[in-house]
Amino acid sequence: RAKEIGRDAMQVFTAELANRAHEKLERQEELRRALAQGELFLQYQPQMDLATGRIFAVEALIRWRHPERGLIGPGDFIPLAEETGLIGPIGDWTLRAACRQNKAWQESGLPPIVVSVNVSARQFQEKDWVERVAAALAESGLEARYLELELTESLIMQDVQQAVETMHRLEKLGVHLAIDDFGTGYSSLASLKRFPVGRLKIDRSFVQDLPDDGDDAAIARAVISLAHTLQLRVIAEGVETREQIDFLREAGCDEIQGYYLSRPIDARALQAILCIPNL
Ligand code: C2E
Ligand code: MG
Ligand code: MG
Ligand code: MG
Repeated sequence: RAKEIGRDAMQVFTAELANRAHEKLERQEELRRALAQGELFLQYQPQMDLATGRIFAVEALIRWRHPERGLIGPGDFIPLAEETGLIGPIGDWTLRAACRQNKAWQESGLPPIVVSVNVSARQFQEKDWVERVAAALAESGLEARYLELELTESLIMQDVQQAVETMHRLEKLGVHLAIDDFGTGYSSLASLKRFPVGRLKIDRSFVQDLPDDGDDAAIARAVISLAHTLQLRVIAEGVETREQIDFLREAGCDEIQGYYLSRPIDARALQAILCIPNL
């Protein structure tokens, strides 16, 4: 009896697994099609220099306009893309689209800004990654200094030696590098010193409860002072309130990004914001 129940349970379990594998294959196929059929697009979120009020950069954030399911955020398909290797072609597309858009803004006469692109671990670890970045720049005609790549701490820490080497090659190209979601990983001070990066992005989780949460306030101050000690600029992400800005400004933070300033928006809407000299 017990054996029978065990066997039945096992069959249900196996069927469930097969089901899931099948679903995943379907979703993967769907994502491949989305890329081919132009359902992926980028939105841009402005970043402001606190000292000057100038929008000096934008972060490119990928979205999927699904024909039936509507707008899908990166959290719901980037992990699948990473698992299946689709992140390679998707990452290339993102990089090219962001470079092309930034070049187009410049050609329309707007003051030049930096476009910042998120990079996945698997993408970063591909042998010819640096060449692909160079190709995206060459193809778009964008100067390297107007492109920044955002690497997360966990990406770098997977293989520090390799990452530092790749970062140096990217630095030679002339692109900027930033560490995204800073504070959520485990980079030691010793390793941080070796990274040729220009900016740290304080993770939103330390920003959202500012200024009331004493721990977060202490962490934010520590990250800002750490960045400045290493002669890096520091940006706070996820800034939603006036009070957060006041705190960050007082704490010496250089730059902010967040809904308070603007949500991520389409290229055309962003263009209108860039026309305003100072916010
Ligand atoms: P991230 O790079 O840390 O991006 C910041 C996320 O915070 C974005 O979410 C942005 O829309 C959101 N955000 C910005 N300001 C605020 C705010 O004031 N409040 C709140 N609540 N959220 C804010 P999004 O667009 O859903 O992207 C999530 C993550 O997906 C990104 O985190 C990044 O890790 C990844 N991602 C996005 N685009 C790409 C891409 O093109 N390639 C890769 N590999 N990953 C991407
Ligand atoms: Mg980012
Ligand atoms: Mg981030
Ligand atoms: Mg994040």
